[in-house]
Amino acid sequence: MKAAPFAYVRPGTVDDVLAELARGDGKVLAGGQSLVPVLAMRLGRPATLVDINAVEELHRFDRRDDVVRIGAAVRQRTVERDALTRAVPLLGMAMPFVGHRELRSRGTVCGSLAHADPAAELPAVAACLDATVEVAGPAGRRRVPAAEFFVGAMTTGAAADEAVVGVEFPVAAPGEGFGFAEIARRHGDFALAGVVTRVRVADDGAPAQARLTGFGISDRPVTRDVTDLLRAAGEDPTGHGLRPGLADLAGRVVDTGGDAHGSTAYRRRLFAVLAARELARALARARTRP
Ligand SMILES: Cc1cc2nc3c(=O)[nH]c(=O)nc-3n(C[C@H](O)[C@H](O)[C@H](O)COP(=O)(O)OP(=O)(O)OC[C@H]3O[C@@H](n4cnc5c(N)ncnc54)[C@H](O)[C@@H]3O)c2cc1C
Repeated sequence: MKAAPFAYVRPGTVDDVLAELARGDGKVLAGGQSLVPVLAMRLGRPATLVDINAVEELHRFDRRDDVVRIGAAVRQRTVERDALTRAVPLLGMAMPFVGHRELRSRGTVCGSLAHADPAAELPAVAACLDATVEVAGPAGRRRVPAAEFFVGAMTTGAAADEAVVGVEFPVAAPGEGFGFAEIARRHGDFALAGVVTRVRVADDGAPAQARLTGFGISDRPVTRDVTDLLRAAGEDPTGHGLRPGLADLAGRVVDTGGDAHGSTAYRRRLFAVLAARELARALARARTRP
């Protein structure tokens, strides 16, 4: 199939992007790695594609105090390769799992957030790290916590006449460790289920806070505080002791219906196994981070 006819515009400023979106029935074009297949399959028929790649401001990728800010036109591959990303280790861990290298050379970090696929890696990283999404619209700019940005499958808190202009990820603090794992049928496929973990330890190495975000398990990334679970499991480098508590959690948070790739029960099991392992890893890493 081929895309239905559409107009194409390439404004040079955020204000002009917003003016184009204000006409109605426009869609932002960032890397095109999700939007173009959607058009080709005629799952969407926007009247106008508003290409944001000529907006200089959106190509900025920098560190400001304790956040790394990524503009809406910055490619995933740029983030994957830049030394700046070491300050946000979870981004570096997740990035190789976002499709294939060729896709990442066009796809943007913010495009992945705006697309909000429930099985995508970067929304889960944003949710686990409490990233802040910056959205511009007719009423000005607003900052949306990731937890509020993802509101359903392929649905975000940004309105049709708004554009994501950037995202801020907090820099990892001393005593923080992270884990990432997913199971996909082939590398580069969307995950059947995946987890992202973040653990902070006190000066004596005891767990002070533990968070876990699951993806591919519901209609959006699901984040839970699991500090008590981690504390109760005691010293267990394999994470095995966490499994009963996480199996219980899986029963409550994994609600993706079964499909040809796996049942709900299988996804629950994946979630619990991956979460236990990645919480144990994050704890071990937190203890070795100065
Ligand atoms: C074969 C294949 C495999 C893939 N595998 C994975 C995978 O494993 N994991 C994964 O996460 N992704 C995967 N993807 C998706 C891909 O990696 C995209 O990079 C990503 O989802 C969207 O980024 P983009 O910049 O290309 O956005 P686009 O395709 O340009 O846009 C996607 C959607 O977001 C909107 N949008 C984009 N930018 C903005 C903005 N700044 N403001 C408002 N709305 C915006 C668009 O209007 C559109 O609706 C895969 C894609 C393909 C084709």
